[in-house]
Amino acid sequence: MDRVLVPVGEPCPFACTYCYTRGGEIRSARIGVKDIIHQLVTFAQENNFQTIQLGYDGDPFARPERGLALLRELVALGKDINFSTKASLHDNELHALKEIKAALSSHGSILSAIVSLSCWESADFLEPNTPTPVERIATLTKLMSIEIPTFIAVRPILPNVSDEEYERVVSEGALARCPGFILGPLYVDDEGKFARLISDQILEQVPYTQNKIPWSAYPVSWKRYEDVDRLIRIGKMVEHKGCRGFESSATAMTFLRSKNGNAS
Ligand code: SF4
Repeated sequence: MDRVLVPVGEPCPFACTYCYTRGGEIRSARIGVKDIIHQLVTFAQENNFQTIQLGYDGDPFARPERGLALLRELVALGKDINFSTKASLHDNELHALKEIKAALSSHGSILSAIVSLSCWESADFLEPNTPTPVERIATLTKLMSIEIPTFIAVRPILPNVSDEEYERVVSEGALARCPGFILGPLYVDDEGKFARLISDQILEQVPYTQNKIPWSAYPVSWKRYEDVDRLIRIGKMVEHKGCRGFESSATAMTFLRSKNGNAS
C-alpha cells in the first residue's frame, strides 16, 4: 500500500456545487482529531505505507486550526504528507506549515500540497462560496514560497466548463510555477446532486462507468464521468505549456519522491 487517506472529520463550508463530501455518503460528518489520529496509528501498526493524504472528505484549511492540529499530530508517524485545499492561507498559517515541513524534513519525509481548480471564469457560478481562483493561485504561490511543492488538481474536469477555461487554469498555474496538474473525473450520485448545475443534455454526452467508491467508509457506488478523449486533449495542452500532467494524486506523489531521491 502506498498511501492512506486521512479525513478532516468535519463538514466543509465551501459548498462547491459538484462536491461529494457534504452529504455524509463517504463517512460520518464529524470525527474528533484524537479519534482520527488514534485510528491511523492503529492502522499504521499493522500496515506499511509511504504517504498520508489529508483532505478527501473536506478542506483541512477551511478552518486552519483544524488542518494545523491534524498535520502536527501526523508528523509523528514519519510519513510523507500531502494535503488538499482551496482555502486562502495567511502568514501565521504559513509560519506553522514551515515548522511542520521542517519537522518532517528532519526525518527525511516530504510535505506537499494540492490546490484544486475545477474552473476559472465559471467559479462564481459553480463555487460561489469558495475562495476565488485568483485567491487559490495566491495560496499556491505562498506555499511554493516556503518550498512546499504544490500541485493543481483539475479535478473534477467538469463537462459544463470549456477547454478554453481549462487552458486559463493551466496558464495561471504555469505562471505560478506549479510543478504539475492532476486531472480527474466527475463523480455523480444516483440522484444527480453532484451534477445539479450540469444540464442533462451536456451530461448525457459524457461516457461514464458505475464505480464502487474505494475511499468511502460505506458501500457507495457512483457514476464516474470521464471523457478520455478530452482528458488526453487537456493533458496535451498541459504538456504544450511546458508542465506535467498526472492521472492521480498517487502518481504526482511518486514523481515528487523520485525527484527527492526517495523513490521506493
Ligand atoms: S472545497 Fe472540496 S470539500 Fe470543500 S466543498 Fe469544495 S469540493 Fe467539497
